[in-house]
Amino acid sequence: MTTTAPQDEQLWSRCDGCASLLYRKRLRRNLDVCPECGSHARLDAPDRVAQLVDSDSFVPLPERAVQVDPIEFVDAVPYPHRLGAARVATGLDEAVLCGTARIGGHPVALAVMDFRFLGGSLGCAVGELITLTAERALAEAVPLVLVTASGGARMQEGALSLMQMATVSQALAGLREAGLLTVSVLTDPTYGGVAASYATNTDVVLAESGARMGFAGPRVIRQVTGAALPEGFQTAEFLLRHGQIDMVVPRHALRGRLTALLAAAHAARRRVPVPRQVPAPRSATGGGGAVPATAAGPERDAWATVRTARHPGRPTTLDYLDTAFDGFVELHGDRLGADCPAIVGGLARLDGRPVMVIGHQKGHTTAELVAHNFGMASPAGHRKALRLMRLAARLGLPVVTLVDTPGADPGVSAEQQGQAAAIAENILALSMLPTPVVAVVTGEGGSGGALALAVADRVLMLERAVYSVISPEGCAAILWPDSSAAPQAARALRLTAVDLCRLGVVDEVVPEPAQAAHGDPAGAAELLGRVVAANLAPLLDVPPATLVRRRRQRFRRFGAARAVGVTR
Ligand SMILES: [Zn+2]
Repeated sequence: MTTTAPQDEQLWSRCDGCASLLYRKRLRRNLDVCPECGSHARLDAPDRVAQLVDSDSFVPLPERAVQVDPIEFVDAVPYPHRLGAARVATGLDEAVLCGTARIGGHPVALAVMDFRFLGGSLGCAVGELITLTAERALAEAVPLVLVTASGGARMQEGALSLMQMATVSQALAGLREAGLLTVSVLTDPTYGGVAASYATNTDVVLAESGARMGFAGPRVIRQVTGAALPEGFQTAEFLLRHGQIDMVVPRHALRGRLTALLAAAHAARRRVPVPRQVPAPRSATGGGGAVPATAAGPERDAWATVRTARHPGRPTTLDYLDTAFDGFVELHGDRLGADCPAIVGGLARLDGRPVMVIGHQKGHTTAELVAHNFGMASPAGHRKALRLMRLAARLGLPVVTLVDTPGADPGVSAEQQGQAAAIAENILALSMLPTPVVAVVTGEGGSGGALALAVADRVLMLERAVYSVISPEGCAAILWPDSSAAPQAARALRLTAVDLCRLGVVDEVVPEPAQAAHGDPAGAAELLGRVVAANLAPLLDVPPATLVRRRRQRFRRFGAARAVGVTR
């Protein structure tokens, strides 16, 4: 916002977005977001802190910045003069304001950068202060929240500024190992060394509406490449589309979003008591081992089941998140360049307990199916799932996966981007993941694409879902004279829930309402929620090492299981 004539300074501001002349008090009430055009004005660190934290909860770190000039840098003006001027102009010691506070009642350590102070640049003092803040978070076992606004590393401190990227990142690694949540909030602008370190290597990355983030700034890129930049380049929406951030959040919603994330992390760490009024599902076994076929539900024709499993009205992962779970906060992106629409995931609550839910997403209409690539995940989708699994493990959240895919994306670009390796990595990661994992095949469990989400402590399957190494059509085309033999192939593949329960591939069948899941989505969601909760509960108190050992044992037993119990 540009202030008008000095005598009006306290009263009026002109919006940089739409040039409206705005009554200053009204603008402040609206968190410095233009009520006319929604443009988010830059905030000073003290104002930002005041907007984000519970009132009177901010306590600055006891440590103060030391004025340094490690390389005795002089341009037009000696560096110490610039520092002195910035201190006078901002009333701050440095380009970051650090301390502890509460957000929505949750204690956090907090570092908020201030772009007014030498462009929010990262020098030795800023790096040290943020590192101390992270260490404070570790000592107090609280999450760390970073609000970034920076042009990058402070060139006046040379390579020592560069080193700060490593220093802060190492402090974040310590929090990672301790299972403490780290969140960065990107505000406009966040560039260079800050973007390439602690702005993006936190667990969750939010971008405030209107924020731009990148390594190189647009001017540099235009100079180097000579190319025109695409519309919206490096904006929050661009970053979301390219898998770089979890969400774009308007300023007025920022505090609420942070509170929701902190609440999830807090509940996970404290293992808050959660009501366990879980009625026994009709085929629950409570322990490991295959369910007797008689308890697994009625025998169904395999081909008819395949057709039901593919029914477009069947609830999707997002439907279940809406119904069987509460408080879903979707997280986006693989951090490598994409946000695959065929995999959705994020934090949610099941029976009041925070969990990480990851699932394939199809759709009900042709347009939805196309938009989600028919639930066929790209390598980016698998990498997004991997990122969320690891995040869950770090935070001590159980993972619930919902499997519904014809298979992994078989396209050329998927191959180029390493589809096989991406699936392999997920399978490996799941077999090491030190947190409970419950997988539910809700529709189609297609081959490796399904397994990439289904190496779990408990593998459940809806009564009319299918789970198979290959589609019946694909199998028929290879082993029969033509694909019209798909119904026979379906029967041969033993892909129904009852068959797979007998084989020990599936631990328990999740009953569906009499009209099937697509005929009664609400009923299906209720049954799914109940059975997942019942399967999760006994896993929560198992020590992680035991959990992982048992999970690996579970997946080793199939050499024997294949020969037992199947009568052909
Ligand atoms: Zn405006």
